[in-house]
Amino acid sequence: MKVDLHNHTVHSPDSSTTVRDAIDFALRSGLDGIAITDHNSVAGSLDGLKEASGRLVIVTGMEISTLQGHLLCFGLKEDVAKGMTMGETIEHVISKGGIAVPSHPFRMGTGAGRSVLQTVKVPALETVNGRNLNSNNRKAESFAKNAGIGSTGGSDSHSPSEVGRAYTVIEGDGLSAADVIDSIARGRTKGYGSGQGIGGGAKTLFKIVTEYFQRGRRHI
Ligand SMILES: [Zn+2]
Ligand SMILES: [Zn+2]
Repeated sequence: MKVDLHNHTVHSPDSSTTVRDAIDFALRSGLDGIAITDHNSVAGSLDGLKEASGRLVIVTGMEISTLQGHLLCFGLKEDVAKGMTMGETIEHVISKGGIAVPSHPFRMGTGAGRSVLQTVKVPALETVNGRNLNSNNRKAESFAKNAGIGSTGGSDSHSPSEVGRAYTVIEGDGLSAADVIDSIARGRTKGYGSGQGIGGGAKTLFKIVTEYFQRGRRHI
């Protein structure tokens, strides 16, 4: 199965994708499922469950801003607070029945670096992020390989046409969201797709910095 495990919707301050658009584009691009992972909110994924009504597997979750970088979590139906260390955040996610996967490792500013990754216990790393520089994705891939953990892929879409640019392959067909989460937890998934070269990366960085100033220098 192909599941894009990282998508933002209007429930994030920096995305204008409606939940319906995310689902429609996912169906059109041949995905079997998506995770809706808005910044610090599960609201989009809960909407997604209603909106998809069985046409597409929806993995609930969110992307939490920890003190040491962004953290994807899956299987949650309630918010986990931002602003804790990555280790503390992972403990909270697990205590609420979810699993956690560090997003876009090695990205400057919002991705966990080597020293953090070495201290946290996670079943996988996001090794293919559609908005990451390919060089950072490669670093994440080699870290996951050396650590003997799984990998995931997600587009990190903030607009509908980005959905599916990166995805996760899960062995098996007709799986439920719970099965997908179980595969990630066992380290059995693999990320595919592509990140960005230098040109695309510069464009994304420009957009991120511009929006940061438009928000009045507030981090998400
Ligand atoms: Zn992020
Ligand atoms: Zn993201």
